[in-house]
Amino acid sequence: MNRFTYQRSTSVEQALSSIGGQPSGKFLGGGTNLLDLMKMGVEHPPALIDITRVPLNQIEPHGDGVRIGSMVRNSAVAAHPLIRDRYPVLSQAILHGASPQIRNMATTGGNLLQRTRCPYFYDPSYAECNKRVPGSGCAAMNGYNRNHAILGGSDHCIATHPSDMAVALAALDATVQLKGPQAERSVPLSGFHLLPGTTPQIETVLKPGELITSIDLPALDGTRFAYIKVRDRNSYAFALVSVAAVIELDQSGKIRKAHIALGGVAPKPWKVVEAEHSLTGASPDEAAFGKAAALIVRGARPHRYNAFKIELARRTVVRALLDATTRTDQKNG
Ligand code: SF4
Repeated sequence: MNRFTYQRSTSVEQALSSIGGQPSGKFLGGGTNLLDLMKMGVEHPPALIDITRVPLNQIEPHGDGVRIGSMVRNSAVAAHPLIRDRYPVLSQAILHGASPQIRNMATTGGNLLQRTRCPYFYDPSYAECNKRVPGSGCAAMNGYNRNHAILGGSDHCIATHPSDMAVALAALDATVQLKGPQAERSVPLSGFHLLPGTTPQIETVLKPGELITSIDLPALDGTRFAYIKVRDRNSYAFALVSVAAVIELDQSGKIRKAHIALGGVAPKPWKVVEAEHSLTGASPDEAAFGKAAALIVRGARPHRYNAFKIELARRTVVRALLDATTRTDQKNG
């Protein structure tokens, strides 16, 4: 058994002070991933700072957009009227993830920080995993890699990021608010997660002692959306490919702005700005969507068991964009 200390904080300042004295400690939110990892011997934090009583549990208007506190539970985000009415793609993405019980516990900040579900990472009996034991190798590279990345991976790690919520947040161009002992800062969600490179154990730009305090959603005007998740079974399964598409149309029906992000294909929510820009001013039709999809999968690097993901991703992007622009039951737009 690994010994650890437990402290409960009731304010951001107290939480930051507590973690400052335990630099290798971890904040404990819903615990839906961290506690599993501790039980399986993957994570060994010497201290847990419980932040479930820290008052970061509001969803409220913020400027022209909406601010979601980092301790808001996933189910509360999905059900909140501001989110359902103004950012339905986020509600949909969250409801496609995990189970109702897990969504009731999991927090917004924790969702961003959840770790890959690569089976070799979760099982310490496998000696090779650069993410768990830096420098040990990667068992997935020549192992069973059906669920692994085709984009953004490296020779050191090809794990995928497992979140549905983060895919929608990336499509929505959300911003992550961070607070550390010295300063606060804002990070675009698209820059929050890091690609593995030679250091797959470093997954985000979060510095030691920093806390995610909220996630900000920008204003969107007249948007249409779709979230499609392709998986091996229809419930409680991680994405083989997921696509969040948010399309802003102008008065003439042309695309003013396209927002597209993919899950299940890369170590982070995957956005290709060039593909989004290719749709600006275009008619919302299959030809334009096909070109954007081709740009997204350009340079994909498949492995033994996951080459199918390239065509699956391309088709799912086209399908999501068609759904977003042709469905008549949109709540916003
Ligand atoms: Fe570990 Fe990444 Fe390789 Fe999986 S893909 S075994 S997480 S190094």
